[in-house]
Amino acid sequence: MFEYNAPSNLLANRTVLVTGAGDGIGRAAALTYASHGATVILAGRTTKKLETVYDEIEASNGPQPAIFPINLEGATPHDYEALAATIETEFGKLDGLLNNAGILGVRTPIESYDPTIWDQVIQVNLNAQFHLTQAMIPLLRLSEDASIIFTGSGVSQVGKAYWGAYSVSKFATEGLMQVLADELESTSNIRVNSINPGATRTNMRATAYPGENPGTLPLPADIMPLYLYLMGADSKDINGQALKAQEK
Ligand code: NAP
Repeated sequence: MFEYNAPSNLLANRTVLVTGAGDGIGRAAALTYASHGATVILAGRTTKKLETVYDEIEASNGPQPAIFPINLEGATPHDYEALAATIETEFGKLDGLLNNAGILGVRTPIESYDPTIWDQVIQVNLNAQFHLTQAMIPLLRLSEDASIIFTGSGVSQVGKAYWGAYSVSKFATEGLMQVLADELESTSNIRVNSINPGATRTNMRATAYPGENPGTLPLPADIMPLYLYLMGADSKDINGQALKAQEK
């Protein structure tokens, strides 16, 4: 596991947007960021799940979060502009963006891959992240020290059979991360990196590996040290890196 002991006020006075905040790794990140002082904007598809996370943060006396329901498959540039306008009005700036939401699609050969599912996966895992990140950059520029985190995978740097659009979307995500990191390095206070969570006990993992005993895998909460490190000021000089949450 990546080793990092975050001070409890690491993210005090910071506003952080997390996509897919209602479940899995995104839920754990939202709770963890809030417990380290961040005001978290909970973005995701299922409002009820986001409300549950909201209630958990309130119950633990974290900074009051905000909810922004958004379906990344059908969202238009107008939706991303609306989110940016709301954040600017409510918070004035953005200090962090965790692009976490994603879908698996199907695990079949490219030769028989359903083109509709291909388009869905590329839309949610890649195009939506481009649109959202582009809309957030002006707000991130207003922060003294901002962090964008993308989410990689074990198949984002090495292609493996039957991982289809998921793998391709994750390769492209790493590309987006690198291009943006290089562009922003000399013109902003924004750093851009990616995290490969490694095998983690979530619904997506269980769908990808139905025969696996989930009890053998770390929980999302266990992999949070790297998520904290990259979101807080201690990683100010880290840019353009693909890091692994479960390696030292
Ligand atoms: P998960 O439990 O399936 O959670 C995915 C999250 O994304 C959910 O909150 C889901 O919302 C949201 N989401 C999916 N489609 C969406 C859409 N169209 N619009 C808005 N939100 C949407 O998956 P996870 O395992 O936590 O995965 C999180 C990230 O880690 C993904 O990028 C995944 O590729 C990556 N990853 C995971 C593992 C692993 O072992 N778990 C390994 C490598 C990489 P709903 O709950 O409302 O559907």
